[in-house]
Amino acid sequence: MLTNIIAEDKIIKTKKLIDNSQKITILTHISPDGDALGSSLGLYWFLRGMDKDVNIVVPNKFPEFLAWMPGSEHIVVALDDNAAAERTIADAEMLFYLDFNTLNRINWLKNAAAESKKPKVLIDHHPEPDIECDVCISYPKISSTSELIFRFIYRLGELQAITLNIAECIYTGMMTDTGNFSFNSQSPEIYLIINELLKIGINKDEIFNKVFSTYSVDRMRLMGYCLSKKMKIYPEQRASLIYLTLAECEQYNFQMGDSEGFVNMPFSIKDIDISILARQDKDKIKISFRSQGSFPANKMAEEFKGGGHLNAAGGESYFSMKKTIGMLEEAIRNRKKYEE
Ligand code: 5GP
Ligand code: MN
Repeated sequence: MLTNIIAEDKIIKTKKLIDNSQKITILTHISPDGDALGSSLGLYWFLRGMDKDVNIVVPNKFPEFLAWMPGSEHIVVALDDNAAAERTIADAEMLFYLDFNTLNRINWLKNAAAESKKPKVLIDHHPEPDIECDVCISYPKISSTSELIFRFIYRLGELQAITLNIAECIYTGMMTDTGNFSFNSQSPEIYLIINELLKIGINKDEIFNKVFSTYSVDRMRLMGYCLSKKMKIYPEQRASLIYLTLAECEQYNFQMGDSEGFVNMPFSIKDIDISILARQDKDKIKISFRSQGSFPANKMAEEFKGGGHLNAAGGESYFSMKKTIGMLEEAIRNRKKYEE
């Protein structure tokens, strides 16, 4: 049914490591998104099905609109209980790194992970992984880590072991990382996988609503405010920039995840192919970069201490909002530089 994307020796090696471990800990990146949680929880349920003691550790909380995902209540959040998080990493006989390509993406858990001498398996789709591990299952052409989890299970010959829980988690990750299959989603095999997940019993429309139709009134109004008052368009560079100060966020009672997806909105405008969202947090400004087509959003993000994929990347700034906006506008003016 599916092309063998993951190299055979990686499957065999990982299977052996799983067979030799009872306690397994899965780590995923800071501010976990649908794919981080989808892949982690999908693998979690699969390993639980093999009677393993499995834990998921994340640096900080995940947004409310993902809290319905089966198993999310078992996730150890380091910011809530750092000792438990570090213990869970230290006690594991094997670690999985899911949906990140550098240990910086797990922030304050970096040392605990690096100190573990136990086997590590990375499963990810970000370019150029820079992490020491025993097996590196890294395929940047694949649209989501969740899709890689499906492919991994499938290659183990365990398709029949994919329960409804696993299927729902995998679908959620595939759906969120492709904007409900509106970008990065041209590969026909994505739909073969969805076909399997549907046969297992997922309700795709319900999952869509659980993730995308759960705005609070504040979030909806913040979105309106961004579009009507804060979206700057640079027609010559075919770019858009939205920025939100801490005060503006507070005015709309900002909750984690409230600006999720806002950065994609300007793409509904004809010809826009670069979109940037800068949001001020307590200690830094978080910047999201998106592009359509061949513009490398990750190259632009690299100038802001970040990186990511060709069409979706992120970075941060510790300067004032004014200075940060100046730097972003400079980057937009120089868009050609990144396309070389
Ligand atoms: P978002 O804009 O949704 O936070 O992030 C989009 C993508 O950019 C993520 O999936 C991740 O690959 C990447 N990304 C976001 N923030 C950072 C960052 O600070 N550093 C790096 N290296 N990548 C990031
Ligand atoms: Mn991902």
